[in-house]
Parts: sequence; structure tokens; C-alpha cells
Amino acid sequence: MGIAFKSRQQHAKILNPATGYEEKTLTLETRWDPLTKRTVRVLDLPIKKLEKLDVDAMLQKGAEVPCPFCPDAVEQVTPRFADDFIQGGRLRFGEVFLFPNRLPFDRHCAVAVLTRQHYLPLADFTEEILFNGFSTACVYLRRLVEVDPATRFFSINWNYLPMSGGSIIHPHLQIIGGSLPTQYQGAMIQGGRRYHKQWGTAFWDDLIATEQALGERYIGALGNTVWLASYAPLGFADIMAVVRDRCSLVELTDQDIRNFAQGLLRVFKYFQEFNHYSFNLALFSGHYGGDDSFRVNARVVTRRLLPPSGASDSSYFEKLHGESISYKKPERLCEEVRGCF
Ligand SMILES: [Zn+2]
Repeated sequence: MGIAFKSRQQHAKILNPATGYEEKTLTLETRWDPLTKRTVRVLDLPIKKLEKLDVDAMLQKGAEVPCPFCPDAVEQVTPRFADDFIQGGRLRFGEVFLFPNRLPFDRHCAVAVLTRQHYLPLADFTEEILFNGFSTACVYLRRLVEVDPATRFFSINWNYLPMSGGSIIHPHLQIIGGSLPTQYQGAMIQGGRRYHKQWGTAFWDDLIATEQALGERYIGALGNTVWLASYAPLGFADIMAVVRDRCSLVELTDQDIRNFAQGLLRVFKYFQEFNHYSFNLALFSGHYGGDDSFRVNARVVTRRLLPPSGASDSSYFEKLHGESISYKKPERLCEEVRGCF
């Protein structure tokens, strides 16, 4: 097995004004992602719960502009698919309403509005809402690969609340698909292929086995879905899920999606306990029609505004250096999240 967890600790010294300028040693850890080898920095600060967010103030911002995803508007103002692609122009399932995105992020791009309710706090999400949303997204993807043979790479994505980059509060997924992967998706697919060639096994299968044996970052499993704290986090709290035996999102069964929804609800419970209000989520698929070295996996990364000015939590590190900063060790995060599983 070839899973290697590489890290290096470095120390910085300051003269601390809080203790009469005595010397204080600060610790920084650089970690290499075991698959992509991308580096991240972990600063283990003694942060427990974050400060509460003024949700009403957040909801007020932009409230004078009508929401295009609310029930009285969504049928009128959102685009339709051609009938020979999707009969009736949109997909409907429970409260879910899926239609083409106006913005061409990819060759195929859809939005799946999850609820009729405009704002849904994390506490009000149910297994049914999540199951309906992700399974409708998978129905769309299965139709895509049926009608467009050039579609090889796809993913299901979610920006929840404005601090995650989501400009519309109304909860919705974004599904993208086309002939090119995104940068990170491509790096994962290439990394998975290299690993498979070298070791003869799937990276993610070995990752699960290694993490389960170590126990430090293994959160729990529900059906085929295994939840882990990411060794090399891409944000403040980075929780990942791997779906065993599935290379592509179009292979997910209803039971897989239900198990994923159940796990995500537990993650939401943790977010509420520690005052995380917002997140980015991506559910990645491998190269459709390629080899079987990939496993469907998700990353959920919390987002927030930094006090006291409400600054963005994405800085020169993420934007210009391509390096993420985490303020909590994944091993500590794992202990906390495990309490909700
Ligand atoms: Zn709305």
C-alpha cells in the first residue's frame, strides 16, 4: 500500500507583548496531500466554537431584489432544456426543480433548486431534501452521458450562503459536465491513475483502509460512504466522503445517495454545534468511460467571514499561491465531528 502522510513542522519565534515580551515559539505545519502532493498549511489555533452569525442581517442584504428561485418566479424566469433532451424542459422531483444554468461554466451546466422555501437553515435540512436534490442531479447526469458522448467529466457542487460565494441564498446545487475536468478534478484523476499503475490498487480504497487502521481521521461509515477528516485540508474544516466501489456519479444507487444524505446531515449537525454557517461542497466523478482507478468522493469545506470587519476567508494564500490554510488540526476536527456520527 502506498499511502504516505508527509508533513513538516516549522517554528517561528516572537517576543510576546502579553507576557512582558518573553520569547514565544509558534508552530506551523506544512502537509502534502497524499494524492495530489499539493501543499497546505495547518495552524492549530485553540479555536473551539466560532462566534454566532447575525443571520437576519445576512438575509436582509439584497432582499429588495426578487429571488429567481422562489416558487412564484422560478417557472417564469429560468431557462428550459430542449424537449428532445429533457421532456418538458425541466426536471422535477419532490420540491426539486432542475433547469439549465444561464452561466456557461461548462458545456453542460444545470441548477437544481432544492426547496420551495427561500432560506433553509442547516437545522431544517432533511434526508428527503438532500436525497431528492442529489438524485435529481444524477438523473440529469445520466441523461447527459446518454445524449452527448463528449461529456466525460462532471461534478455536483454547492455554495451554501453568500460567504461561500453563493450569490443566491435560496438553496441550490450546481451540476457541471463537459469534455474537460476542472483543475483539481484532473489532478485527482491523474493522481489516481499514477497510484493505480504503481500499486495496483485504487488510492481511495487504500486511503480508507489506512485511515481506518490509524483511527485519527476516520469519522465513520454509512453504507458504502466513508467519512474522513481530510489529511491536507482545503479550508478551516474540510470533511471528505468516499463512496466505495463507485467510479462515476452515474453509478450511484438510490441507497448510495441516501447514505450520503444521512452522512451530510450529521456533518450539518456538527456545523451547527460549532457555529459553522456556510460551506462549499463538491461531489466529484472520475473520467467517464475511462479506467476504474477513481472513486466518487466529496469535499465539504466550511466558509466564514472573519471578525471584526467581516473579511473574506480567502486571502493571497488561496488566490495567488494556490495554498490553503487551516486553523484546526484535522485530527481534532475528526474527534469533534465523530461526536455527531
Ligand atoms: Zn428564493
